[in-house]
Amino acid sequence: MTVVVHTREEISAKAPEGTGVVMTMGALHEGHRELMRVAREQNPYVVATIFVNPLQFGPNEDYEKYPRTLDADVEACREEGVDLVFAPSRDEMYPDGPPQVTMTPGQLGEILEGASRPGHFGGMLTVVEKLLLLTRAGRAYFGEKDFQQLALIRRMVRDLELGVEIVGVPTVREPDGLALSSRNRYLSPSERRSALALSRALREGASRTTADDVLQAARKILDDEPGVRVDYLALTGADLGEPPAEGPARLLVAARVGATRLIDNVPLGLHK
Ligand code: AMP
Repeated sequence: MTVVVHTREEISAKAPEGTGVVMTMGALHEGHRELMRVAREQNPYVVATIFVNPLQFGPNEDYEKYPRTLDADVEACREEGVDLVFAPSRDEMYPDGPPQVTMTPGQLGEILEGASRPGHFGGMLTVVEKLLLLTRAGRAYFGEKDFQQLALIRRMVRDLELGVEIVGVPTVREPDGLALSSRNRYLSPSERRSALALSRALREGASRTTADDVLQAARKILDDEPGVRVDYLALTGADLGEPPAEGPARLLVAARVGATRLIDNVPLGLHK
């Protein structure tokens, strides 16, 4: 049975200490469901949170029009065997209005997504910290789709001694390669075709072995797709630092397709 609660009193009365937690903004898809399935396998009690966090949206971003589909989301949670859904209102999460004391992501929060979306990671970390405490999480599950987010959450947990195990889950894709995202529903059919260039570029890049080749191969595919405006294409180390000459690395892309901003990334190995 899946129980749905909306208040801090209810969640603290119902969620046992040390739960497995999946945090989402709703509009649930197979990517979110995969997080729930992994959590379900590893924990006796699973909580899913559904909250569109105003703090992590910029003034010109899609907070107002972000898809809100609570009934279908609860049904998806039920199908995945989630025990408790916590879907707080904005006032429940921020009863005093915008919080005064918030998270500062540090250097790792200033590159890539942080450079393109000022304030986004501070807002994201602030709500993640609150939700970890409210749900009394023992483990929490995040997708590699948002790779920098995952790295920052790991860092926050270490730096602030939050004592929660953070589990990263590989990106779930459509059969044609497109990374699942709640924002994909904004894409027209022709934009969706253009959007495939992101995963194709990453795949092509990841098939090369030196930094120059990786970036050139990926860049070429993006340049050849007129429907895609690249925000960044970056090759980093697995920790988002400088890429090594040899060893594990990450290739990340952000781009606009029409009015929709998409991100994606893949792991790869570099060799001389
Ligand atoms: P969101 O609702 O977009 O905030 O995402 C909630 C969680 O689901 C985050 O940890 C995301 O990284 C994860 N997620 C979103 N899309 C995917 C995907 N395609 N594959 C795996 N995890 C995902």
